[in-house]
Amino acid sequence: MASGMCGSILVTGSNRGIGLELVRQMAESPSPPSQIFAGCRNPDGPNAKDLKELAQRHQKLITIVCLDTSSESSVREAAKQVGSRLNNGALNLLINNAGINVPGTLSESGQKEMVDVFVTNTVGPMLVSKEFLPYLKKAAAQLGSQEMSCRKSAVINISTLLSSIEKCHTNFAFAPMYPYRVSKAAVNMLTRCLAEDLKSDGILVTAIHPGWVQTDMGGSQAPLPAEDSVKGMLKVFANLTEKDAGNLLDWEGNPIPW
Ligand code: NDP
Repeated sequence: MASGMCGSILVTGSNRGIGLELVRQMAESPSPPSQIFAGCRNPDGPNAKDLKELAQRHQKLITIVCLDTSSESSVREAAKQVGSRLNNGALNLLINNAGINVPGTLSESGQKEMVDVFVTNTVGPMLVSKEFLPYLKKAAAQLGSQEMSCRKSAVINISTLLSSIEKCHTNFAFAPMYPYRVSKAAVNMLTRCLAEDLKSDGILVTAIHPGWVQTDMGGSQAPLPAEDSVKGMLKVFANLTEKDAGNLLDWEGNPIPW
């Protein structure tokens, strides 16, 4: 993609795993975006070391933003901070990547597990989309005559194959994760709602499954290195158009049924 793909990008949960790799590949692209805001819930903690080193190497490009997507006040504060630094007040691409999983069989899952995962995986992307919407609208308005795209103004929600109700019978035994699956199925509905709501503003909203990826969450048995997943997703992002609004695609651009 990321080649001249868009001006300003925010990635949530970007201090490790897929989020960190997204920021790295965009920053190291031959024609990087003009601004990358790297959301991280604890920039001073040990998990942020790699992101800090990356930001150090790309000081003009990457700004680390304290952003805990499970906290409404943190999301609001981050929106204020990013808003004050955006070129022309416009954000072209928001990638809602931050997410959690917990051991989730029926016997392992209680109210707390369901609610905690829902708060981060579902309410988080909703709040972030809401608070950053004025900047996305501004970007869309500035490029008003263009077709919908990630270069113009877009929200990408990182979902999962495990969110698919239609596919559940094919993979439930392998991943019996009640809180995670339910929260991500709800992210798909959030995606569809936002896509409908924001299309008149020219803002594209799409959900993406990154593949089964070698990260702390995906585990070492996952077949896909984060580098390959992100390379694929960036290509997909670059080619998204109006026809992809409100849909779930995988990291190679194939549609996944709800
Ligand atoms: P990791 O567990 O490796 O990383 C998760 C990231 O999200 C970390 O940076 C973590 O920060 C951050 N995060 C978690 N909670 C919050 C929060 N409340 N506020 C801000 N940041 C938060 O996961 P992956 O990189 O594998 O996953 C990224 C996304 O991809 C998730 O949405 C996940 O559901 C999805 N996905 C992953 C798959 C895989 O196989 N890996 C498959 C399908 C989907 P911290 O370091 O502070 O914990």
